[in-house]
Amino acid sequence: MSDALVLVINSGSSSLKFALMDAQTGDAVISGAGECFGRDDARMSWKVDGEKTEKTLSAGSNHHQEAMDIIVGLIESNQLSDKLQAVGHRVVHGGETFSQATLIDDAVLGQIDALKALAPLHNPAHVVGIKAARQAFPSLPQVAVFDTAFHQTMPEKAYHYAISRQLYNDYGIRRYGFHGTSHYFVSREAAKWLNQAPEQTNVITVHLGNGASLCAVKDGQSVDTSMGFTPLAGLMMGTRCGDIDPSILEFLSKKGLSTDEIHHELIDKAGLLGVSELTNDCRGLVDAAEQGHKGAQLALEMFAYRVAKYIASYMVPLSRLDAIVFTGGIGENSLPVREMILKELAIFGYQADAEANAAARFGAAGQITTQASPLALVIPTNEELVIAQQAMAMA
Ligand code: AMP
Repeated sequence: MSDALVLVINSGSSSLKFALMDAQTGDAVISGAGECFGRDDARMSWKVDGEKTEKTLSAGSNHHQEAMDIIVGLIESNQLSDKLQAVGHRVVHGGETFSQATLIDDAVLGQIDALKALAPLHNPAHVVGIKAARQAFPSLPQVAVFDTAFHQTMPEKAYHYAISRQLYNDYGIRRYGFHGTSHYFVSREAAKWLNQAPEQTNVITVHLGNGASLCAVKDGQSVDTSMGFTPLAGLMMGTRCGDIDPSILEFLSKKGLSTDEIHHELIDKAGLLGVSELTNDCRGLVDAAEQGHKGAQLALEMFAYRVAKYIASYMVPLSRLDAIVFTGGIGENSLPVREMILKELAIFGYQADAEANAAARFGAAGQITTQASPLALVIPTNEELVIAQQAMAMA
């Protein structure tokens, strides 16, 4: 273990995930999560050296603070305090204010809070986590790493919607894009794999998890991405609809659904789950599809078709494509889904290599296409490591 430990925190409104990362080796020395904060069944679990511990949190207490106290205790009891150099916070929305990881002071905390206008569920929860961490580790640098930051290099033609400029000026309505830390990481790893400088690397990164997005990375920078003003846009996802005709909202409203009900339909009841009427879990869908479940078959076909269409459209902003890069729970593990996507791209000459495709899973990276095909890679993502490294760089 090196002396470059960073505490990585992802604070949600009712949860908190943490990892004590070695920013040099990428190892998580301690990791854990708390859930159900604010309720009587709030609890926390963590792993040290593979050994798991669970604890119920006190009813009625400030659970974010209590979680932070537990983390402080774990670091002290494992004699790691001297090695801890910084705290890195995942922050969903940096708006147009933040285009890179930023050292948190009172002013920055105020700006993150103000961005709750754009991320009402996430940013206030991050602020709670940051405040608790500042109290627990007053002498350490605290660094915010934003999901949106990597996409701040998109040109205007990519991030503007074709709506009145007034809506952009008054409310900041534009494409922001998310999953930026993941797209950044796998595009850098792809450059290493290609033996090229990141600034000379053009890839399409395809993050397929329960949430899913693509990014066109030109000369190492994001030039377009599929998520938009919120993470609902773009690809079909586990339970989110992705791109749909916006008039459907008005139509449903006139049918008597409230704004909340429409939101629920599109965010929680749509995507793989909505189409299959079975599950949002890709593994379950693949098994069911093999046994002839029509809903599962259609859901997977739609998923692959839509990913392929986005990949094809991202050839436009890239003058040259070095590789397609799959990542995320589905992208890293699901051989049939990757194969279906590459089949949809046959017009460009893509062809999966069955053996190589089967080998690249459960954390293994590698090429999954034949030698005759343009290149597609699998690269496992590691957002915690990016947060740890970017926080370490500011320590
Ligand atoms: P994530 O949000 O990145 O954790 O990804 C979650 C998605 O990855 C779910 O749809 C899972 O079914 C899928 N997934 C995870 N592991 C596997 C696996 N071994 N094979 C296929 N899909 C997987």
